Amino acid sequence: AIPLVVAISTAVSAQNGLLIRNRTAFEESRKISVLVFDKTGTLTKGDFGVTRIKSVHVDYSSDEILRLSSALEQSSEHPIAVGIIKKVKEEKMTIPNLENFNAITGKGVEAIVEGKQIKVVSPGYLRDEKITIPKDAYSDAAETVVFVLIDDQLAGYIALADEIRPESAKAIKIFKENNIKVLMATGDNEITAKAVSDNLGLDGYFAEVLPHQKVEIVKDLQSKNEFVAMTGDGVNDAPALAQANVGIAVGSGTDVAAETADIILVNSNPQDIANLILFGKATYNKMI
Ligand code: ADP
Ligand code: MG
Repeated sequence: AIPLVVAISTAVSAQNGLLIRNRTAFEESRKISVLVFDKTGTLTKGDFGVTRIKSVHVDYSSDEILRLSSALEQSSEHPIAVGIIKKVKEEKMTIPNLENFNAITGKGVEAIVEGKQIKVVSPGYLRDEKITIPKDAYSDAAETVVFVLIDDQLAGYIALADEIRPESAKAIKIFKENNIKVLMATGDNEITAKAVSDNLGLDGYFAEVLPHQKVEIVKDLQSKNEFVAMTGDGVNDAPALAQANVGIAVGSGTDVAAETADIILVNSNPQDIANLILFGKATYNKMI
């Protein structure tokens, strides 16, 4: 026979934007003491618009920065890429061809365009390569900034803005009422991460996080006796989702993340996790 809990979990999940892959995930959800959210597309809408394009190199105009970047972003599905392509289409620019496209996991994209090596990368990548971030890059805390390297020289940057999902605040209120700590781990820059964390009243955040560091964050929390749930959407998130006590892949994510996860959050909506936890608690309180 199908245990009652499994039957209930299937019913609640189907109606609430959740796919439960691991049968015990529903039972385990009531034990969660810390939730680690990714930012882009989960706590925020992941709907980026380009706000500024800046050249920092005499040989390249801001239009040229955008045009060369667009060749790479056309081959990427990242929400940042979607925002950049939207801008290029508004500007009616012709997107150049590319060769040797490569996604640098959790850090950006690279390819050869018109004989030049182009990279569009995160602030974490610049830090690793010991390239100084231009002072004016973070003039607006709400912006996400990606950096454009041409033949390994910093040529400029593109700033984009995203919005916090209205459902995030509602979900976080429920987590707090249930004594669940809420943290955020993002590849995005420190200033933007802090702005989102402050706005939502999170218990803490990790910024400019590289893929392997997400696993360390989970392990560290577990060593402090926390029962950890984590969300993620990319190939790079799969190891952390596997390490978490409850791994949650968000909707638009890749198959690899989904295969590792216990739960799939179909609409990427944090409120669906809140409902799952509340329902799990209510069900078990009745049964015991
Ligand atoms: P997050 O979901 O927190 O943005 P990701 O691991 O998806 O984290 O990406 C980490 C960072 O790598 C992004 O914040 C961005 O700076 C950079 N990045 C990833 N993909 C792209 C891309 N296609 N174009 C530009 N930057 C990218
Ligand atoms: Mg991501």
